[in-house]
Amino acid sequence: MISDGLGDTIRVSLTEEPEREYTPCDRLAEIGGEMTETQMLAAQRAVPDYADVRDIFSFSRRTGRLPVQEDGDAFDYRGLLNRDGSVISAVGLEDLGRPQDLYQSLGCKTVVGLPFKDIATSDAILLRSVPDSENTIALQTLKRLMDVAILPIVPMKELLRTPLEGAVALMTIDELRKGDFPTGVTRAVVLLSGAESEDDVGALKSLTHEFILLSVPGDLSRLHASRRIFSLLEKLDIDSAVIHHYQPLAKDSKDFALQLGTQVGGLLCDGLGDGVLVEPPEHFDVDPSTVRTTSFGLLQGSRMRNIKTEFVSCPSCGRTLFDLQEVTAQISERTGHLPGVAIAIMGCIVNGPGEMADADFGYVGGAPGKVDLYVGREVVKRGIPNEGACDALIELIKEHGKWKDPEPEEEESSELVVTA
Ligand code: SF4
Repeated sequence: MISDGLGDTIRVSLTEEPEREYTPCDRLAEIGGEMTETQMLAAQRAVPDYADVRDIFSFSRRTGRLPVQEDGDAFDYRGLLNRDGSVISAVGLEDLGRPQDLYQSLGCKTVVGLPFKDIATSDAILLRSVPDSENTIALQTLKRLMDVAILPIVPMKELLRTPLEGAVALMTIDELRKGDFPTGVTRAVVLLSGAESEDDVGALKSLTHEFILLSVPGDLSRLHASRRIFSLLEKLDIDSAVIHHYQPLAKDSKDFALQLGTQVGGLLCDGLGDGVLVEPPEHFDVDPSTVRTTSFGLLQGSRMRNIKTEFVSCPSCGRTLFDLQEVTAQISERTGHLPGVAIAIMGCIVNGPGEMADADFGYVGGAPGKVDLYVGREVVKRGIPNEGACDALIELIKEHGKWKDPEPEEEESSELVVTA
């Protein structure tokens, strides 16, 4: 909405003190304002004309075709994309030289030093440079990742220079048309900028590729160029999955999250896209692990892929019957490892139950010092003393078969969605 210039007021509701709400609101307004600057208006005009075919009266998510395994494949190419949305991480040569740090930043579990895919592991990696044959540590790291279906996507030109058996080639439409795959490569991802002609996009119907990487350059409006590509894909009946490629210019992790949300999140919330690949510039101040968890957070916030418990919390007011911040932190710490479970934490019964959205469980202040617990919209336990209410909530989650014990190395933080 902000990128479309729609709306007059931005409201951010936090469980924290209200004065903290100002900074993200102000920054979002700034980002919205930037969309009307001369340079951005030129970028919007630079997008070739297209007919916007989005249905504004009903929502349905476009889901792209997933890679399939073929006889004789040496690696599991199904791992390239996840059906609920994919996160791809950019990896450099120097990262491959520090395997344990890399496995951790990609969100892998490790067993005796070997990586395995976990619930919030990057699905694939973008590798701009292939290690040469003397770089044995980097090659071994790469092999270990490929063995667990974390496959490298490498630009075609780089693969011609340094072949890598089993890699996925990143190709332009023209390169794909020529059909000359580099040695040892059988799979391709096609790179689009958003400015391709209808004929070029139409060619994808008969050109084999695993998915589209949509990388919109700075002189085109990402929002409009992306919508144009999705409109063409629909018109031409092409079911390729589309991953948004985003190169951040943010100052810090909070700014990065806001920028990513407005640049890519708006499209994903419209049901346009199957995931995100963030490729930070050199000397980016946000660490790779935060880039990955923010990317997963974007998918969860876009109602695509759940990797952690979802919390809905009221912003608190004069009616709040317990310390909302402290209780939210306590519940989040003990139950934040349950993907697919939504828990509402509401300060009072006046408005709390009505604001719990579609949460599976509700923790609602019922009277001073007492909490009521809900399953869906139905109250199932009343008047539990505050001290034992978190334990009672966990028992309730167990009774409904939605509990699992946390794993020792669990490192993801849970997502907090606040509602008024
Ligand atoms: S749910 Fe109750 S305590 Fe929370 S903001 Fe609404 S009225 Fe206030």
